[in-house]
Amino acid sequence: MSIKDTQNKIEAIMDQLYKEEEFLTEEKGKSRQKVFDSGKEVLTTTDKIIKSYIRVPKDNREIVRIPAYRIQHNNIAGFYKGGIRFSQGVNEEEVENLAVLMTLKNALHGLPYGGAKGGVDINPKDFSPRELNMVSRKYVQRFAPDIGPTRDIPAPDMGTDERVMDWMIGEYKTIHPGQNYLGAFTGKSIENGGAFGRREATGKGVYHTYLWLVNEWAGKQQEEELKLEDGVHRKQFNVLKRIYEQHKNRQPVRLAVQGFGNVGGVAAYMAYHCRHSAHHVVAVSDHLVTLYNKNGLDIDRLLAYHRQHHQLPATEEELLEAEVEAALLNRDDILTLDMDVFILAAIEDQITEKNMKEVKADILVEGANAPITSEADSYLHEAGKVVIPDILANAGGVLVSYLEWKQDRITKFYTEDEVLIEMYDQMSKSCEKVFPDYFNDRLPGIRNTCYLKALKQLFLLLYKHGKLY
Ligand code: GLU
Repeated sequence: MSIKDTQNKIEAIMDQLYKEEEFLTEEKGKSRQKVFDSGKEVLTTTDKIIKSYIRVPKDNREIVRIPAYRIQHNNIAGFYKGGIRFSQGVNEEEVENLAVLMTLKNALHGLPYGGAKGGVDINPKDFSPRELNMVSRKYVQRFAPDIGPTRDIPAPDMGTDERVMDWMIGEYKTIHPGQNYLGAFTGKSIENGGAFGRREATGKGVYHTYLWLVNEWAGKQQEEELKLEDGVHRKQFNVLKRIYEQHKNRQPVRLAVQGFGNVGGVAAYMAYHCRHSAHHVVAVSDHLVTLYNKNGLDIDRLLAYHRQHHQLPATEEELLEAEVEAALLNRDDILTLDMDVFILAAIEDQITEKNMKEVKADILVEGANAPITSEADSYLHEAGKVVIPDILANAGGVLVSYLEWKQDRITKFYTEDEVLIEMYDQMSKSCEKVFPDYFNDRLPGIRNTCYLKALKQLFLLLYKHGKLY
C-alpha cells in the first residue's frame, strides 16, 4: 500500500466517521464539517521529514554516500515511535507510509505513542560488521537532535536488529552523556537494557492474532447470531469456521510463510509446534527460494540450518545438508501455492494487481508492513478471503518495545513470562475490539475496521488537545 493509498483510506474512513451521527456531536460553536476537515488534514499530513546523507568509509577505503531518513508522522498520542530499516532502495515515500502505519498501529493497540519510521538505503548484506557499525553510529550523529526517550524512540525493522540498536544507543550515549538515555532506542540486547522476548515478539503476536480469530472468536460464534446475509462476510465466516473445525478435529491445516527472518521464522515455529491445531507448514521462502512439501516441512531443521547459514537451503546439496525433504521452487512461487493460510512476513507489495487473481490461500496474515497493495486488498476481500492487516497482526514488536521503554525508566527487568503475558493480553484485547465489530458492521475489509478504531481514537485526542479548528 503506497502513501497515497494510505492517505486516501484515512480520508474515506474519516468521511465515514463524519456520517456516524453520534460521534462528536458537540462542536463548541464550530462547524462539525470544519472540525472533521481539519482532523483529516492533520492525519493525512506528516509532521516532519528529515532526509540526510551519511558518509561511510568502506573496508576498501572507498567512501560511500548513503541516503538516510527519519520521518515523524504524528505525535498526538505520545512520543514518536517506530523502527529503522536498512534496505536497498528505501525512499521517502516508503518511509513516510510506514510512519503513518505506525501512528495507526500504536493508536489501535492503545499505546501512548505517535508514529515515525527511519530508513537507510543500503543492502546490509553488502556491508561488513565494521561498516554497519559505522552506518549505525553516523545515522545517530545525523538524527540525534530529533531522537530521545521523550521525543522519538526508534527500534529495529527490516535489515536491523539488536546489534544495530546497541551501536545506536552507544552513540546516543556519547552525544547525550549523563541523561537517562536507555529509553532512546528499543529492541536492544538484554545487556544493554533490552526486554526478554523482544526478538520473537512480532512473530509470536502474528501467529496469536490468526489463532485468536479462528479459535477464540469464530470457533465460539454461532452463524445465526451474526445474522450474516449471503455475501462476502458470510463467505469469510465460513472460511474461519472450516479452519476452526479442522483445528478441533486435528485435521492438518496447510500454512505457508513468506520470509524466514525474525517474524516469518518465529511464526513458522509457532505453527509447527502449536498445540491447538495440526498445521502442516507446507511452504516457506526467503530472498532466494521457496521450499515446498505438501506433507509439511521440518521447521526445526530449517531453523537450525538458517541459524548457521542465514538463509534457507537453496540447492539439492544444501537440502541434504539440512536433512530436509522439500521441492525447490522459485522464490515468488510461494505467493500462489495451494494452501489454507498464508503468513506474509517478508517485504511490502508482494500481492499486487499482477498476481492477486492467482492467490489460493483463504486466510492471509500480514506479518510484514504493507505486503498487499490496495487494489489487491479490495480484490481479495471481494473474493471472500480473510485478510488480517499489518497494523493489527504485527504489533507484538512495538508492544514489547513499550515494556522495554518502561523498564528502562525504572530499575527493573520484566521476566520473559511477564513480557509475553502482557503482549498476548494486549493483542487479544485488540482482537476483541476489532473482529466482532467487523462482522457486525460488515465494512469492506478488516483493515477498514482497524483504521476506523485507530482514527476515532486519534481524532478524539486531537479534539481534546484543541488541535482542530
Ligand atoms: N519495526 C516494528 C514495527 O513496524 C517495531 C517498531 C517499534 O518497536 O517501535 O512495528
